Amino acid sequence: MSSPQVDQSAALPGTALLQGLTDVIRFLHARGWTPATSSNFSCRVSEDAPGFAVSVSGLDKGELTATDFMAVDYAGHVLLPEQAHLRPSAETLLHSVVYRLYPQARVVLHCHSVNGTVLSKLYEATNGLWLENFEILKGFEGVKTHETRLWLPVFPNAQEMDILARQVEAELRNHHPVYGFMLAGHGLYTWGESLAQAKRHVETFEFLFEAILKLRLYGYPDYTG
Ligand SMILES: [Zn+2]
Repeated sequence: MSSPQVDQSAALPGTALLQGLTDVIRFLHARGWTPATSSNFSCRVSEDAPGFAVSVSGLDKGELTATDFMAVDYAGHVLLPEQAHLRPSAETLLHSVVYRLYPQARVVLHCHSVNGTVLSKLYEATNGLWLENFEILKGFEGVKTHETRLWLPVFPNAQEMDILARQVEAELRNHHPVYGFMLAGHGLYTWGESLAQAKRHVETFEFLFEAILKLRLYGYPDYTG
């Protein structure tokens, strides 16, 4: 078993995974899904590490580098003394929920797209929406057919992250598989076992958000709300 010192250094910025994560974030930013310093991102650098690396709050996500991450434990506490002056994202506890519920998850991506924000408001009253009969559903890991029915939970937005984290955890335990969740009027959380898988899940969700919004605009029966 690794010593805590080794574990902590593994969570320091500068690893290949963090470098790759910043590339993914720039892609998401270029698509317009991380506007105005919003959004946050994390990765579990190693299975032996005591927590995960999460983006520092308040930075322009188009300019994020591997040094703009900090190591935190699953309670959101800063792990490294030299990073004690940094402030983790306020939503770090929601990343913790994902890592605790899904041991395979290595990367959590949280975006604030316009389509996701609008859709989350439309489905806030029903606490979520079913995603089914779209070929793009095969973008989710393990999905083999468009004849798949997946629940996307939508939670009321809140600033009390500890309460919200408990709500999210309780709901996610009831649904399997779940590939993401939304906060109403706020944004999407999704994750993956790798950078590529997590990025693919964001793209899949964003495709679905735009498609469903257009179907609603055209009055398609399944999405008339
Ligand atoms: Zn957010």
